[in-house]
Order: sequence, then structure tokens, then C-alpha cells
Amino acid sequence: MAQHEHVRVAVIGSGFGGLGAAVRLRREGITDFLVLERAGSVGGTWRDNSYPGCACDVPSHLYSFSFAPNPDWPRTFSGQQHIRAYLEHVADTFGLRPHIRLDHEVTVMRWDNDELHWVIETANGATITADAVVSATGPLSDPKLPDIPGLADFPGKVFHSAQWDHDYDLSGKRVAVVGTGASAIQIVPEIQPKAGRLTLFQRTPPWVMPRMDRAISGAEKWLHRALPFTATARRGLLWGIRELQVGAFTKHPNQLGLVESIAKSNMARAIKDPALRAKLTPSYRIGCKRILLSNAYYPALAQPNVDVVASGLSEVRGSTLVGSDGSETEADVIILGTGFHVTDMPIASRVVGADGITLAESWKDEMQALRGATAAGFPNWMTIIGPNTGLGNSSMILMIESQLNYMADYMRQLDVLGGRAALDARPSAVGAWNRRVQERMKRTVWNTGGCTSWYLDANGRNTTVWPGTTAEFRRATRSVDLGEYEVVRAPATTRTAAQAVTEEAAR
Ligand SMILES: Cc1cc2nc3c(=O)[nH]c(=O)nc-3n(C[C@H](O)[C@H](O)[C@H](O)COP(=O)(O)OP(=O)(O)OC[C@H]3O[C@@H](n4cnc5c(N)ncnc54)[C@H](O)[C@@H]3O)c2cc1C
Repeated sequence: MAQHEHVRVAVIGSGFGGLGAAVRLRREGITDFLVLERAGSVGGTWRDNSYPGCACDVPSHLYSFSFAPNPDWPRTFSGQQHIRAYLEHVADTFGLRPHIRLDHEVTVMRWDNDELHWVIETANGATITADAVVSATGPLSDPKLPDIPGLADFPGKVFHSAQWDHDYDLSGKRVAVVGTGASAIQIVPEIQPKAGRLTLFQRTPPWVMPRMDRAISGAEKWLHRALPFTATARRGLLWGIRELQVGAFTKHPNQLGLVESIAKSNMARAIKDPALRAKLTPSYRIGCKRILLSNAYYPALAQPNVDVVASGLSEVRGSTLVGSDGSETEADVIILGTGFHVTDMPIASRVVGADGITLAESWKDEMQALRGATAAGFPNWMTIIGPNTGLGNSSMILMIESQLNYMADYMRQLDVLGGRAALDARPSAVGAWNRRVQERMKRTVWNTGGCTSWYLDANGRNTTVWPGTTAEFRRATRSVDLGEYEVVRAPATTRTAAQAVTEEAAR
């Protein structure tokens, strides 16, 4: 076999998940690792989504690492450029640069049963082997293009919100925006003043709450720098408020009626036309789809150069966009705010496990992973923000940090086992975890609220959201339960983890 670079851990992706994993590995004393990133810089979501108005919708002091507080966040909901700069800063501060290989897109990773390692190939021809893989390729990193007849033959400009063309001037153009998700509602108010005409193709109206955004004052920044515990307290408060809201999403969706009335007033303040208001009023329980935050979205839709086609886009005929209601709109440019491959992540078809099947094949009926991290038949492979780890109302960084705790303990357990060993999630443990999650899911607003959303897969199963508090997830991922794993040492030598530890101790 040709000589390849071998590392203990290969981390795939350099967004919050990948960089967080890298910091944590170093803190665990593991320096023999690489971060493989397909793009030319770090930042993940916050590198790719540079559309006008792009910002987080969780307050910045919570949407950042607990181990890397930033007293200088400029706004309560900071914009993309500042979040991207923060991640670059994390890469520098924690000395991650020597570990990062940019322009290394992983095309395939195969588990080698004989060598007990992963063989990773990249698009630029590198082959790297690794004892363990931490896949942090992101749930929202591969743009989803809608399957609309005629779209490919549209003579004008077409681009996805995550691939914004900054060289294309929208001034005076007839702009069509397809979709009304989190990205679209940030884009519309920014481009409406420039566009000659803006047509918004909406399939389902979102619930939009007021956005409590403001500049963070110099005094606050000074305080957080001089007395860091004040920043910690602020973060704690932001976290606690969101934890208290979880029960309404997961157990008592009826309590969300009050929140609906706030969202309705937010709309009523800006939309005076009853016909437009009817188009924009959702018919499902708030929270069923992601609750969006904006003070500018409704005022933009009320402007005279904006139309809302509430039936969605059904066909493109040349430069004519045909709504499902038969309406026709001429456009120069189509902006697709159509989301990402969430329940059909492309990376899954690039991971080939112990039985020679891909993760995508293993997940063809349903994505499932033990504690959101590991999959049966894929030894020493774990994912960050895996199945059922998403949140409806709080910061994904909390979930990522919980998964990093799990990763750290996983690496410790491999050390305890000594020598060349791998842990493979037991199918029974994965199944039991998934049944528990799905049982709790039954009462949640995401499953009962009367909407379809990107949280649900093609079979209508919610394989994306965590049906509990972030504290519960933190507890569930504090450490690896070896009873949930089989230890793989060599072909056909498979023992329970408990047996392996006993044997190890006896040596
Ligand atoms: C516009 C937008 C706004 C958001 N706002 C919020 C918010 O306010 N609050 C919140 O909690 N969450 C938000 N999210 C969700 C966000 O995705 C997560 O919070 C978090 O950034 C995910 O980090 P990640 O590292 O897991 O994934 P990503 O940031 O997506 O990073 C994945 C990385 O993996 C790389 N990659 C993918 N495939 C490969 C491959 N085959 N080989 C090598 N590299 C690969 C990608 O290039 C990317 O750099 C938002 C998402 C979007 C798109």
C-alpha cells in the first residue's frame, strides 16, 4: 500500500463545528489531527452566506463559543462579516492554522476493517488515513435548488442565497425571490429599495416576530472586557430564557398562542392592506416552522414595488415566472432562498462503513445517530450536528459544545482501550435512542403544529430537531456509555465494550 499521511483524527469542515472540535482536541492533548475544508477559508455557514442582511437570529453573546467569549460583538444580533471574523479569530487564537488544510474537499471516506482506520480521499488528490473521523460538514452547507420546470432555461441571472453574486447589480432590475425562510426574509428588506420590481414567491408564510436588535454600547463592551463574569452572566441569562421556552415547543404547543398574537401585531403594524395581510398570515401553529425575526420584512412587503405571489412558483417559461395560481411575472433575476440539503446531506453518500455500504444507504429510511453523533456500522466516525440535534429557539453552539464533550470522552475511551481499537455503536443502542427521541417528538409543535417544514424528511419524520432542553442534551452527551458500543480490534474480533475494558485491565 502506498504511504499516506496518517493522523489520529481527521475533522471534516471548518465552521463552528470543525473549529470547535479542533480546539477541543488540542485541549484534550491531541495534536495529531487535521481539519479538511473544501473551501479556501474557514467559517462554514458564515463564509458562504454573504447575502445582504445576513445575520444570526440568536443573540451574539449566546451564538459564540463559551470558551472564546467576544466582548466586542457590535450588535445584539451581529452580522455575517463579524461572525466570520470571529471564526477566523478563533482559528488564530487557538493556533489551529497549522492543522487546517483548505481546498481539501473530501470526496470519499472508507472504513478499512483490516487496518482499523478511515481512508479519506480529497478532490485535490490527497489520501489521508485517520483513526477517527469527526464529520462537521454542517446541516445547512449544501444549497438546495428547487426542481421547477424551465428554471434551467431562464435567460436571466439565477443564484442561491448561499452563493450570492456580489458582482451582479440589482438596481432597477425585476427581481424574483423564491422562498420565505430565514435567509429570504433577511434579503428582501435589503434589496427592495434597489429593485425596480420585486416579486416574492411564497409557498407558506412564516411567522415573523419583532427583532430586538440594537448596537451594543461602548460601556457594555468595556464592562465585558474589564469584568468577564458580566459577559458570562449575560450569556447565562440569554440561555436561561430560551431554556424556559422549550416546554411550550416540546410539550405544550397551545401555550404558543400568546406568541402568535405578538407576531400578528408585528404584521398588522406594517401591513394595512387586508388582502396582503391574509396572504401573509400563517395557518399553522407558531414554532412549527422556524420562528423568524425581523422588523423590516413586513414594511418592505408593503412597498409599492413589491408583489407577493402566495401560491409559490410552479414553472419558468423563458423570462416569465408562472405562479401556481396562474399569475405571470417577468423577471431579470431569480434569487433562490430555497434552503439546504438537510435530511439528505450529500456527505452521507461519501461515507462508506464497515459493511461497504454508505451512510446514505444506511439512512435511506431514516437518519439516526446515537446521541446525535455515531452510527452503527461506522466505527470511530462521529458527526457534529447530527440527526435530531437542531434547535428551534436557541443557539446551535450549545449543542455543538455538548457534542464536543462527547467527542472528547470518546477519544478518552479509545485511550482506555489501548492499542488499535475502534468503537462501533450497537444497532440496539442507536435504535433505542432513536425510539426515545421519536416518542418525545410526538407531542412537539414541529410534529403537531400543522405545517410541513425542512425539519421533516421525505417520510414526514422529524430527524433534525432535538425535542428537549439544551441542558438535557448536555447531560445525555456528557460521557460515552461503553455499553452502547462494540469494540472492534481486528476483523471478526468483536467484543462488547465492557468485555474489552475488562480484558485490557487484566493485561
Ligand atoms: C444563513 C444562516 C443563518 C444561521 N443563523 C443561525 C443562528 O442565528 N443561530 C443558530 O444557532 N444557527 C444558525 N444557523 C445554523 C448554522 O448552520 C449553525 O449554527 C452552525 O454555523 C453550523 O456550523 P457547522 O460547523 O456545523 O456547519 P457549517 O458552518 O455549515 O460548516 C461546514 C463546513 O464543512 C465544509 N464541508 C462540507 N462538505 C465538505 C467536504 N465534503 N469536504 C470538506 N469540507 C466540507 C463546508 O465547506 C463548511 O465550511 C444559520 C445557518 C444559516 C445558513
